[in-house]
Amino acid sequence: MHLIRTLLLFFGILFSWSAIARDFSPIPTASRMTDVDKAEVPFNLTTLKHNWKQRIAAMRAQGVMPIIDIESNLGEDLDMQSFAHRMDDEGVALIAFSGVAKGRGWSDAARYAVAADPWRYVPTGDGGLPPDWKRDPMRFAQTTKERIAIDGYPLMGEYEFRHYPSPDQIERGNLARDEDFPIDSPAGHALFRFSAESGIPFQIHLEIEDALLPPLEKMLAQYPKAKVIWCHLAQMRYQDRNTIYGPDYVRKLIKQYPNLYFDLFSGPPDHVYPSSREYPGKYWDRSTRKLKQEWAKLIADYPWRFMTALDLNPFIMRSFSNKVGMQRAVLDSLPESVREIVAYRATWKLLFNEDL
Ligand SMILES: [Zn+2]
Repeated sequence: MHLIRTLLLFFGILFSWSAIARDFSPIPTASRMTDVDKAEVPFNLTTLKHNWKQRIAAMRAQGVMPIIDIESNLGEDLDMQSFAHRMDDEGVALIAFSGVAKGRGWSDAARYAVAADPWRYVPTGDGGLPPDWKRDPMRFAQTTKERIAIDGYPLMGEYEFRHYPSPDQIERGNLARDEDFPIDSPAGHALFRFSAESGIPFQIHLEIEDALLPPLEKMLAQYPKAKVIWCHLAQMRYQDRNTIYGPDYVRKLIKQYPNLYFDLFSGPPDHVYPSSREYPGKYWDRSTRKLKQEWAKLIADYPWRFMTALDLNPFIMRSFSNKVGMQRAVLDSLPESVREIVAYRATWKLLFNEDL
């Protein structure tokens, strides 16, 4: 009898723990986002923020360090229900959901995502990806301005300026996506100017290369109020094209340009970029699988300028857990006092100008 009572108590505790563990926020009722009507615009950020704050608080209350992913391209085909469980299992509080226009000019995917699951996604403008951005950059920049302003997005997507083929594209034999689009082109000016005027941040993909740094700095100096997130800190795919970029250079940029931010996405420490056969993740110490000290110090000195990111796209969703693991390894490399800032508070501050 005593044994049975003990067992009942044990399973009771186990059950109530697992019930609580899944209870950060409701699981969406639709698995396909396009099965629901897209969210009304302008987005009701007051209600959404209320949900998101509750979700973050629920994670914190259960000892989970919530992560906000500032940069992912997800499509309308995402399985909303199973991915909600995966996010909860990994302690990913929010993902900045950026749609993929795929030749349609604009996708409205973020409107569907937010309507289907108003707890897990921050509506983010479509990214500057091929074919739309490449085919007619000025037109896409104009569409961006209209949609962001009218629909009330708190964040723009990632615009590809210099972009070497990504490892998953090389794997799929898609070598054509070798983008080379000047940051100081008319469309680049349009984005910087719009961000400076509206205060809405935008994200750039610009490979790290000596030759690309002066035009970027020229733009940052010309538009000091533009809020720019330079994606993928220290991801360097060709070492021989670089003699300048490193923690000292990034420190100099941070001091000089008050509205420059960095996302922290990186592949794992032992990841090799197929085309150059080099390790692109320059901030990793490959022996400890933590940040090198000089990078950890830089981030710890300016934690409000750095944000966790998963860089998801529909082709690599199987790597979700690994990607979260890499960002948690980054956080674990930092002094405890700044981890919460980098994990989610810096992003919240940048998007909503509020301290969580
Ligand atoms: Zn990128």
